[in-house]
Amino acid sequence: MKIANINGRANLLIDEQALDIALASSGQFGPSLQSIYDNFDAFAAAASGFPKEGLESFSLSQLGSPAPEPRQVFAIGLNYHGHAAEAGMAVPTVPAAFTKFPSSLGGPFEPVPRMGETLDWEVEIVAVISRRAHRVAEVDAWDYVAGLAVGQDYSERTMQFAAGSQFSLGKSYPGFGPVGPWLTTLDEIADRDNLRLECWIDDDKVQDAPSTDMVFSIPSLIAKLSAVTPLWPGDLIFTGTPAGVGITAQPPRFLQVGEVVRSTIGDLGSIHNTVIAPD
Ligand code: ZN
Repeated sequence: MKIANINGRANLLIDEQALDIALASSGQFGPSLQSIYDNFDAFAAAASGFPKEGLESFSLSQLGSPAPEPRQVFAIGLNYHGHAAEAGMAVPTVPAAFTKFPSSLGGPFEPVPRMGETLDWEVEIVAVISRRAHRVAEVDAWDYVAGLAVGQDYSERTMQFAAGSQFSLGKSYPGFGPVGPWLTTLDEIADRDNLRLECWIDDDKVQDAPSTDMVFSIPSLIAKLSAVTPLWPGDLIFTGTPAGVGITAQPPRFLQVGEVVRSTIGDLGSIHNTVIAPD
């Protein structure tokens, strides 16, 4: 399945058209996206039986984040060997977890404001949790994932490093966490353990790596995070970025107003964000 946020309502995408889940289920599921994750197993079992006569066309500009109201947002630093190497940092032995505050989340095609001189890009796989996960074994962890989406962990590097190793503020301006274009459930992903992440600035490809370069796989992250804190339905995990960010380029490169950042991951689709001047 592909689950999309269209004007704030949960929709199933079928043959490039949208089915409003609340209408198709006579109010049993939806309309909020969060309500889908709060009851995900029942929703997934029922979805194939929804009547299809309500299919409607939609435009990409209507899409919001497929998981817009998480209780928690986890993000992982230095989770690709190539990125740790370019940063000159040791490969972590435990996940370097921080948060992006939920107010940073946005739709897949929203603009990103240039809040400082050092705005940087990080294409990432975002995992959405489907049921409460506490002390989950790695071997069972995929059972707690509703699906995956494309995300960008935009980072204002000066703010990020201004408070030592407390990254969260510098990654949490509004617009710094676009996710989408929709949630792709695991059954529609050919190889969930090997996805190709690509990122372009205008026509210049800056990131291109397989997720097999991860230090901690998605199941390993769920096991290690849930060993400490329960994960809740609709929670997001930004699972880290591969090599090719701006701060480690020679010379360093940062985003400029008018540039378009396009991020594509394997079977998950593509998002893009135009860099704008702040209000
Ligand atoms: Zn990141």
